[in-house]
Amino acid sequence: MQLHATDEQVASVVEHIRASGLQEHVSRGSELVIIGAIGDENKLDVGRFEILPGVERVSRVTKQYKIVSRDSHPAGSVVKVRGIGIGGPQIQVIAGPCSVETQEQMDIAADAVAAAGCRLMRGGAFKPRTSPYAFQGLGVTGLEYFQAAARRHKLPIVTELMDIRMLDTFMEYDVDVIQIGARNMQNFDLLKEVGRVNKPVILKRGLSGTISEWLMAAEYIAAGGNHNIIFCERGIRTFETAYRNVLDVTAIPVLKRETHLPVIVDPSHAGGKAWMVPALAQAAIAAGADGLLVEMHPNPCDAWCDADQALSPEELKKLMGTLGAIATAIGRSI
Ligand code: PEP
Ligand code: MN
Repeated sequence: MQLHATDEQVASVVEHIRASGLQEHVSRGSELVIIGAIGDENKLDVGRFEILPGVERVSRVTKQYKIVSRDSHPAGSVVKVRGIGIGGPQIQVIAGPCSVETQEQMDIAADAVAAAGCRLMRGGAFKPRTSPYAFQGLGVTGLEYFQAAARRHKLPIVTELMDIRMLDTFMEYDVDVIQIGARNMQNFDLLKEVGRVNKPVILKRGLSGTISEWLMAAEYIAAGGNHNIIFCERGIRTFETAYRNVLDVTAIPVLKRETHLPVIVDPSHAGGKAWMVPALAQAAIAAGADGLLVEMHPNPCDAWCDADQALSPEELKKLMGTLGAIATAIGRSI
């Protein structure tokens, strides 16, 4: 309460707390009165209390994200994708092209992903492009090419879902991990729908998403019953224009503290240039990321999408060779 709040003002706040079905705890100091609300905080609307006469400040003491919070599950969670653990001691690298282009491209890419020692493969069949005239992805045909290529190496597939209407098709094609792209982090209807299915979800951070908005987005998925969520930091938009986005390395330990769910990093969309990818990937693992999502194309110069940031098969292999020592240094493996 404000410094000179009256007894009537205190009583009015107490009345409002009771009206919401909670109990009050009034603590009177020599100068200030602090009123606690005991019960389900979600029933309280902070804004309604802030406007009451005599109120100085209203703050929540419990988190609004309950299921994804580490408080609800102090040990880390491991999300299993066809037996492969994400969030456990082993670091997982998901690699593949930005977009599915041809069967041949996907076959060569799958061979390269497996040869580099990665256990999961990425590839976009539905692409969120800034320009409506840019290649939008092959759609369902892309899912076909992707599955055909990945199956040969038993690689689980990770691909982006942009539209709720395609969810059944994703289930039909047995997509192993559904990626929710940065632009859809707060597409709440999409989040609710993927919350209803029993498939792991990679939730990318929005271009300007705060940590708390990101956690709440994950809570939307979790609230529907699907707790198999993996956070993916992919760089945020800042004032800097020298690279595509700023990889928020700080987000890794912060998220690992706030949530029990795995956290992976996409160094490709962060830097936006292939030559930056190894440094960012290494930093991410050193900072505690549970895995990486890396773009690799059989022939980067010919990529239909994000050519600048794609590693070649040789570069991916080389990067993989550098991660083992970092993983070992922090008590993990690759
Ligand atoms: C992608 O992974 O290809 C992609 C479009 O990523 P983001 O949503 O992070 O931009
Ligand atoms: Mn891309």
